[in-house]
Amino acid sequence: MTRSRFLADAMLGRTARWLRILGYDTIYGGGLEDDELLSICVSQSRILLTSDEQLYSRAVRDKVEAVLVRGGSEAEKVAWIAFNLGLKLEINPESSLCPVCNSIIRRIDMDEARVRGVPEKVLGWSKDFWVCSGCGKVYWVGSHYRRMKLFLREVSRIMEDLHSSSRQLSQSSLPSFSTRESDHSPHSSQ
Ligand SMILES: [Zn+2]
Repeated sequence: MTRSRFLADAMLGRTARWLRILGYDTIYGGGLEDDELLSICVSQSRILLTSDEQLYSRAVRDKVEAVLVRGGSEAEKVAWIAFNLGLKLEINPESSLCPVCNSIIRRIDMDEARVRGVPEKVLGWSKDFWVCSGCGKVYWVGSHYRRMKLFLREVSRIMEDLHSSSRQLSQSSLPSFSTRESDHSPHSSQ
């Protein structure tokens, strides 16, 4: 099964990082004009993610698949996208993409991790390392990983709310968000 691929508009840079961590190929459209965003979506078969209603309307008119992203906090935005597209909220380092540059990451051994500048104290307690094939950033499972898990738990809770409110509402209404406060950012290991 091919996974959905995305193009996130200028307002959704942090959301793009989360989708990459979840293993979804997501390019960031910051600095691009609306025309360029739409043509990239067509030429690269990407789903447009935007919180701009005008751009969303244009995408619909041009028959470009798009999601109008709702939500105030980062968790709400990720939940909204996952809810609408049925995305899996799992972090699997073997399929995660680099949150910084969207490239494939590959597993490396301790020797290579040492050469690439991982601190000795980290080498003392972690055996699993990955390096980005694009920007060269090295990742390992540390405290940032636990924070990411907490963030995704929050996203799951919001998704449950969205599912239950969509069941309660009539089909013409959109589910709404609760006012739960949450806004965590993806953390890398450096
Ligand atoms: Zn990278």
